[in-house]
Amino acid sequence: MEVVRAIPCGYCKGVIRAIEIAKKEREMNPETPIHILGMLVHNKYVTLALNELNIISHNEKNKTRMELLEEIDEGTVIFSAHGVSNAIYEKAREKGLKIVDATCTDVLKTKEMVKEHLSQGEEILYIGVRNHPEAEGIVRDDPERIHLITNVEDVNRTDVHSPVFVTNQTTMNMLEVPEVLDAIREKYPDAVISEEICDATRMRQNAVRNLPPLDILYVVGDPHSNNTRNLGKCANENVKVIRYIESVEDIDPSDLQGVKKAGVTAGASTPTSLYQQVISFLKDFKENDPVPKRTEHIL
Ligand code: SF4
Repeated sequence: MEVVRAIPCGYCKGVIRAIEIAKKEREMNPETPIHILGMLVHNKYVTLALNELNIISHNEKNKTRMELLEEIDEGTVIFSAHGVSNAIYEKAREKGLKIVDATCTDVLKTKEMVKEHLSQGEEILYIGVRNHPEAEGIVRDDPERIHLITNVEDVNRTDVHSPVFVTNQTTMNMLEVPEVLDAIREKYPDAVISEEICDATRMRQNAVRNLPPLDILYVVGDPHSNNTRNLGKCANENVKVIRYIESVEDIDPSDLQGVKKAGVTAGASTPTSLYQQVISFLKDFKENDPVPKRTEHIL
């Protein structure tokens, strides 16, 4: 079978940096309890691998970041690549925890911009995903004046006074954001807009858009990962079937019957070994081949 990989795909600079920060922290402090608020990056296999280094992720679904932080009483807390609100930072300081901030610099850039525009008395429209940690980390800094916009309907429901500043979560879909921005421009013609989809997200989405005609496309990544989910949505109409998988183990061999050309892409938080294993399996695939076990090599 011919296999085409979208280039680039997989780890971005922010994810590589966050993982290196966590590993270094463990190396330098072998005995210290180390906690991560949430998932360091959105991939459960990375979370499990960090867990094996005794770096514990606190990520209960129904708890807020603040509630999770309440449970950490000693040692080091690492803030994930998605960033945290100022209140979380303050609380960790009050608790006397050592803070290690692995927030991606691209997220910090939007956070700084929002802060600056708030200080000038502006209202903020922030295009993002509800309950996503990156959006939460920004909106919670001032819920009265930072308004989360998830779609055009949200724009229509807003009633804010000028001046208005508009920005967005870094991992949004570059094909969907323009529609929301158009609605904002129509309702708030004087709004100042700074579209901040990060380069890593944009390049991975473009790579998927430019794939040749395919019988099937595998998008490798974690369902929590916003940029992974968006990759599949960027595929062009020449891709017949799209499958979201977390590892090679999720491949259903019946999907491969008659497939001559398959594509593979991976989210920015997907370990290289996971998507490489998918590529190798597809390249050598013969009917009735069993799906192998997922590789153990993650970090
Ligand atoms: S996807 Fe973009 S914003 Fe998110 S960690 Fe990677 S480089 Fe940073």
